Amino acid sequence: MTRYDLHCHSTWSDGLLAPAAVVARAAANGVDVLALTDHDETGGLAEARDAAIAAGIELVYGSELSVTWEEVTIHVIALGIDPGNSILSEGLAAIRAGRSIRARRIADALAAAGIPGAYEGAMKFVTSERLVSRTHFARFLIETGHARDMKEVFKRYLTRGKPGYAPHKWASLSDAVGWIHAAGGQAVIAHPGRYDVTANGMRTLLADFRDVGGDGLEVLSPSHTAAQFSEYATHARTFGLRASCGSDWHGPGESRLELGDLPAMPANVVPIWKDW
Ligand code: AMP
Ligand code: MN
Ligand code: MN
Ligand code: MN
Repeated sequence: MTRYDLHCHSTWSDGLLAPAAVVARAAANGVDVLALTDHDETGGLAEARDAAIAAGIELVYGSELSVTWEEVTIHVIALGIDPGNSILSEGLAAIRAGRSIRARRIADALAAAGIPGAYEGAMKFVTSERLVSRTHFARFLIETGHARDMKEVFKRYLTRGKPGYAPHKWASLSDAVGWIHAAGGQAVIAHPGRYDVTANGMRTLLADFRDVGGDGLEVLSPSHTAAQFSEYATHARTFGLRASCGSDWHGPGESRLELGDLPAMPANVVPIWKDW
């Protein structure tokens, strides 16, 4: 059986390893087809491609786009894109510019909560000058003893209603899907189980996503329980979406599951790779 892992991160966004090291680790773990999906970024794909050729595995060009839908942040995975497409690369550059502005506001919010120096502190963890993420603030807050680990730091500081949260408007759902399609890719809703929406809200999101031409739903994710694997497989069928899977791996010690460490895809869905 071909082993797919269609969601992971490198130092081009908030991962801990360079693209070549991510690819080598995936290959060592038995991954046959890997998508590198850095947040709002495709800059790591050239290095990943060379490493994939060297390791003898298949690389799918990807990205994970930050989207705001009905005031909720949603992540949309792009798969099989042409990274040279200017519509997509301009869209991603605009999202990244928003990240820099938000980072200042996160630092201001933390300062108001009695934690000064967070901007400079987070910048020490940034590995690509093009991209700053909440993960970099999280690593700073852990380093300075404000939380023990990633889970705790997000629970206490960087999420809605907590000090250190700065609301932000990302790309629209229809723009993100449009850019992905312009670049020849497929658009997939990432880790649906993580969003703060009601059951009805989820159905509205999936209907809206399908209406703007969305292609797939990430059914298998470490963010999901076994019950959610079935729940989202059913949603994928109901909404005519293909099913995807990804470890969302960020680095050694920061992710619950290893690269490629995913259960088998439920049999009753159409996998996103059906026509690859
Ligand atoms: P950003 O896109 O900058 O808002 O940062 C989102 C990133 O923070 C995600 O891609 C994860 O890597 C990380 N993250 C968000 N929530 C959590 C959480 N509860 N636990 C661990 N990491 C999280
Ligand atoms: Mn991340
Ligand atoms: Mn995500
Ligand atoms: Mn991710």
